[in-house]
Amino acid sequence: MIILKNLRKRYQTGHDALRGINLKVDRGELVFLTGHSGAGKSTLLKLIGLLERPSSGKIIVDDEDLDTLGSKQIPFYRRKIGMIFQNPTLLNDRSVFENLALPLRIADFSEAEIRSRIHASLELVGLLKKQNQFPLALSGGEQQRVGIARAIVSRPEIILADEPTGNLDPELSREIMKLFARLNQVGITLVIATHDMALISEFDFRQIHLQDGKVTAPQSEPQT
Ligand code: ADP
Repeated sequence: MIILKNLRKRYQTGHDALRGINLKVDRGELVFLTGHSGAGKSTLLKLIGLLERPSSGKIIVDDEDLDTLGSKQIPFYRRKIGMIFQNPTLLNDRSVFENLALPLRIADFSEAEIRSRIHASLELVGLLKKQNQFPLALSGGEQQRVGIARAIVSRPEIILADEPTGNLDPELSREIMKLFARLNQVGITLVIATHDMALISEFDFRQIHLQDGKVTAPQSEPQT
């Protein structure tokens, strides 16, 4: 479970990107984080992913207060989280397989484990046949699916996705959202930031609306 308590983020410019966020995301939940550009969606995901630190307030993930994580625990925490961005930033001089293998090699997995995890991830995103291709030979939607496969090879408990369909047409966007729904069915918790209200209206998941650094949605707690 992710719990945010009175979370605030003021950037060095003096801008208050988050102004007191209180929020709970249940384990195994999928939530959409909505709001206009500049509302604070990316900042919120970066704080949960430990890419940025809050100015004040608390982030508690699975009973662990992120403030209290020492430098040795941070890599373990990060392994629990998969991050997906609008642009998958694949390495174009390496095959799909090698792109996916990279985080696993860094984490010192055996070659057999690497092969098995990549197989499972590519199967889930429907790209098993493309594992020896290079990223530039793939369509935009396929590249984004490789980005998702790269996030799930580490078997994260939580996926944070920041405008994952921002560069895709409506049909591909729908496919990517369906893929997220499938990941949710296998138990992954997902927080997906998007401003594509038309797309998410097709899916029956909780929406948390941010406006000017605050939550405005009627319900910020999981529905029971
Ligand atoms: P969203 O993802 O909803 O578009 P962001 O979290 O990216 O919103 O940004 C929220 C606000 O914080 C915006 O006004 C943005 O300009 C500002 N902001 C984001 N990142 C930084 C930064 N690194 N330094 C200063 N201001 C930032």
